[in-house]
Amino acid sequence: MKTELISLTLSELEELAQSMSQPKFRGKQIYEWIYKGAETFDDMKNIPKDFRQKLSEQTYIGAVKICEKYVSDIDETRKYLLELSDGNFVESVLMKYEYGYTICISTQVGCRMGCKFCASTIGGKERDLTAGELLSQIVCVQKDLGQRISNVVMMGIGEPLDNFENVLKFIELVNAPQGLNIGQRHISLSTCGIADKIRELADRKLQITLLISLHAPDNEKRSKIMPVNRKYPIEEVLSACDYYIEKTGRRISFEYTLISGVNDSIDEAEKLAVLLLGRLCHVNLIPVNRVEETGFQKSAKQGINAFKNHLEKRGIAATVRREMGSDINAACGQLRKKKNRENT
Ligand code: SAH
Repeated sequence: MKTELISLTLSELEELAQSMSQPKFRGKQIYEWIYKGAETFDDMKNIPKDFRQKLSEQTYIGAVKICEKYVSDIDETRKYLLELSDGNFVESVLMKYEYGYTICISTQVGCRMGCKFCASTIGGKERDLTAGELLSQIVCVQKDLGQRISNVVMMGIGEPLDNFENVLKFIELVNAPQGLNIGQRHISLSTCGIADKIRELADRKLQITLLISLHAPDNEKRSKIMPVNRKYPIEEVLSACDYYIEKTGRRISFEYTLISGVNDSIDEAEKLAVLLLGRLCHVNLIPVNRVEETGFQKSAKQGINAFKNHLEKRGIAATVRREMGSDINAACGQLRKKKNRENT
């Protein structure tokens, strides 16, 4: 099997060069090309031709390529459909804030968690992304943008804690000062609540921001819209969160997608407040994005505000997520789904 270069650290690339009878600095040269967004060995001009030939026989870069791109006229949000080296597709979204650019990346091709409101999980999971493919989404979009991306959120297609080892390696890669040099405090990970992995993550004592997709305040309702709740019910998720806060000192954010008539009553806001009271946390309220297959509807603006005000009245900090790129709005997972339909 060929080695994927983009998943390697600088020192691993240097070792690889040496194992192929080359001086150590060739590893650094390859590393620099990869981080400049080289897609083929032909791009690597300062590497001797015969070594490039050998590299292409034994290795591949593993970089993602832009297949489709949509730019919002409203707020410059960009959505990308990216092609992987095996012909699969994932999506990344780039958002512009006052403090810089944030990229939302995918962690798996598809997803096996089965959340009822989510487009990414409809066809199940195809495969995990490698650490390099996680990184490559940033390198590729940054090259297209021509400016530095300063923040990363793992909130695209897939469940990051269902691809645990690759996500950890990715965090190491993305931190590297000679590479993208993005600090852990600029990285966020969103999970549907795989409690034992949240604990494992806490034990690593990383400084990343953790977001938990809660979406319902009791087990009966949560299991209906998020099947993962049958395995990891709310008490277990929250107890793992407490452990995370204790180990890392980091505040946790809870995501709560508001779906009209499903989880958006004041009664539910009250239950949510009772659940979270006393925790170092913040609630992100997300008006549900329309996904054709699900039939779920957004809550009315008034209802959303009332839900938020109730949480705040009970002492829970809450914000309603600003909709970005609404003119190019294809909820996460929809571009890939459309592409797969065209290809079959
Ligand atoms: N698997 C991870 C990360 C991917 S989804 C997780 O579950 O957290 C990122 C966030 O978008 C999650 O909170 C997810 O529940 C939410 N989401 C998925 N589909 C949505 C939709 N149609 N409308 C609004 N939010 C959605």
